[in-house]
Amino acid sequence: MQVASQARYTVKRRTNCPHIQDHVSPDWAKVTIDVSKPCTVCNDASENWRCLECQGVYCSRYIKGHAAEHNQDTSHPISVSFSDLSTWCYACDDYVTDPLLKPIEIALHLSKFGTMPSVTEGIEIASEENTTAGGEGTSGSSSKV
Ligand SMILES: [Zn+2]
Ligand SMILES: [Zn+2]
Ligand SMILES: [Zn+2]
Repeated sequence: MQVASQARYTVKRRTNCPHIQDHVSPDWAKVTIDVSKPCTVCNDASENWRCLECQGVYCSRYIKGHAAEHNQDTSHPISVSFSDLSTWCYACDDYVTDPLLKPIEIALHLSKFGTMPSVTEGIEIASEENTTAGGEGTSGSSSKV
């Protein structure tokens, strides 16, 4: 039997990322998140990630790649997407999820949609075709910019 209620491919999220605890500030619960913030470096506002360590906003690798650059410069591993609200760990090289991220996901959802996310499912990945920043392959060895 097929379950067809989900997107065609589900974004698999790692639940055992060891970096979240060390790199995500609990103060995040109090921070107001504005998903329309532009990239700190190039000011592009179309597709940004927010570093969960220093709270800087940087654009995706499909724009100018400042989020990845920021990770290389600082080794801040955890970023959350303003596009689909997913959380990416550069150190794990994978999407991650954790109860610690819950307040952040809720704040993001409120900022983006004006509503609370569904409690049972957590964040639904936006049903757009293009998943940002992850690429479609699961092998993960495609070339990076
Ligand atoms: Zn990690
Ligand atoms: Zn940028
Ligand atoms: Zn940072």
